[in-house]
Amino acid sequence: MTSPRKPKLGQNFLADDTARHAIADAIGDPSDRTVIEIGPGHGAITTILAPRCRRLILVELDRALAAELRFRFRETPSVEVIEADILTVDLPALVPHGETADVIGNLPYYITSDILLKLFAASAHLRRAVLMMQREVAERIAASPGVRDYGLLSATTQLYARVDNLFTLPPSAFNPPPDVFSTVIRLDFASRFADLGVDPASFDTFLRRAFAQKRKTLRNNLRAANWTSTQIESNWPENLPPEARAESLTLEQMASVYLALNQSQA
Ligand code: SAM
Repeated sequence: MTSPRKPKLGQNFLADDTARHAIADAIGDPSDRTVIEIGPGHGAITTILAPRCRRLILVELDRALAAELRFRFRETPSVEVIEADILTVDLPALVPHGETADVIGNLPYYITSDILLKLFAASAHLRRAVLMMQREVAERIAASPGVRDYGLLSATTQLYARVDNLFTLPPSAFNPPPDVFSTVIRLDFASRFADLGVDPASFDTFLRRAFAQKRKTLRNNLRAANWTSTQIESNWPENLPPEARAESLTLEQMASVYLALNQSQA
């Protein structure tokens, strides 16, 4: 069974045998685990993982590909195919009570950020994710404060997970080749909210405000949100320069600003 390729769905299929094995291996030993694969396509990673997992859930939007996978794995009861947009799937509902699941996928690049946000929202139910994405996005995710690539996506990801940048592939590793290089990252979910002493929802909002305009100082971004100059100046942590930008602060420093301002409002 073959289906016409749908470029709008980010259908660049992995054609490099070493790479598909390396991605499957990066999830670790899944023999007693539930693994959710995002965008399995023609099954480049799936065929390696299926015999290894206790349970493998495939989420594929393309109807013809979902049908192809259902047929291919019709005699493998551990494999389940969900024909759906991953962004609409209730991830926690797929994870058995009291367990965590792993996520794997050569992602459809057009929705990488949305998928990441979805994984963060479900991160209490997840242990690990191994994800292929555009190299530039992976570099932003793994960047440290103070370097050019560090921004809201880096800070948010590092709040929810430890990030490992595993390896990069050239366009020739795919069929058809995409216009960009691709990088595989591993996220080990471990939220930092408790150790930073911050409330998840309100710190998330604070971060979005802090990073709202890249060229502005953090103080100016906060002024443009809902804090007055007096509140900001009188509660500013002593060890931070007044002209600091969000991009240069560690999560600990960002949390110290957030906690000081919140105390001033209490
Ligand atoms: N895993 C396969 C591989 O490595 O060869 C295919 C990867 S391809 C880059 C992305 C896959 O995601 C395609 O199969 C595409 O149909 C699927 N896809 C695109 N948008 C999706 C969505 N919103 N939800 C689930 N799957 C999607």
